[in-house]
Amino acid sequence: MIIDTHIHLDSDRYKDDLNDVLNRARDGGIKKFIIPGADADTLDYALEISKNNEDVFFAVGIHPYDIDGFDSLNFDSYLSDEKCVAVGECGLDYFRLEGSDEEKELEKSRQKEIFIAQIKIAKRYKKPLIIHIRDASSDAKKILLEQNAGEVGGVLHCYNADEDLLSLANDGFYFGIGGVVTFKNAKKLINVLSKIPKDKLLIETDGPYLTPTPHRGERNEPIYTKYIAKKMSELLEMPLDEIENITTNNAIKLFFNHY
Ligand SMILES: [Zn+2]
Ligand SMILES: [Zn+2]
Repeated sequence: MIIDTHIHLDSDRYKDDLNDVLNRARDGGIKKFIIPGADADTLDYALEISKNNEDVFFAVGIHPYDIDGFDSLNFDSYLSDEKCVAVGECGLDYFRLEGSDEEKELEKSRQKEIFIAQIKIAKRYKKPLIIHIRDASSDAKKILLEQNAGEVGGVLHCYNADEDLLSLANDGFYFGIGGVVTFKNAKKLINVLSKIPKDKLLIETDGPYLTPTPHRGERNEPIYTKYIAKKMSELLEMPLDEIENITTNNAIKLFFNHY
């Protein structure tokens, strides 16, 4: 039994066969699915999918690539829905910054501002955070600690293997492990995996992206969490069912405690 804690089911790439994707996963033992909010334009569709499927839940948030959508998004209307389990994905992503140095600095400070605003919303609604961090570990960690985000906790989704972030395990943060762990060149993540406290490990696909081996290059989907769990069991030298149990219990603790 597995919970896919990060799957963009509202993506265009599932539009034609969403029910098949979900049923394949259910047949394989995937018990719950969480759609992270990323694009304000597809949030209503994410909500609709969660309404139509008992085992699908969603989060509301603005991705750092989409911060212009923040002001017009009515967080309250989504957060009051019983299927809304988290705020995010939100965070910092400095990977694709463009323009002059000043423009880059301006973009960074806007991302920080919107990230902080979403942490405040999460605390107000007592919802955990789904956090996206890319090339911005130290700024993100600083904000999480300064804003006392551990009050609600959250997941560092698609954990970037930065050891400086490991200490956040002591502040109520979990670490989302996805298809990257199956890649041959993911040495950093493979080496750091055993240093993550077991009670802070989560499994996610981040589908349609980051498809694990042996399906790399194809569309990712929740049934492929199997390959992630299997790889984790090999690397951590733990039985597969123990990996599934631990990560499922962790996901329940973080996202579904109040259900
Ligand atoms: Zn992300
Ligand atoms: Zn994502």
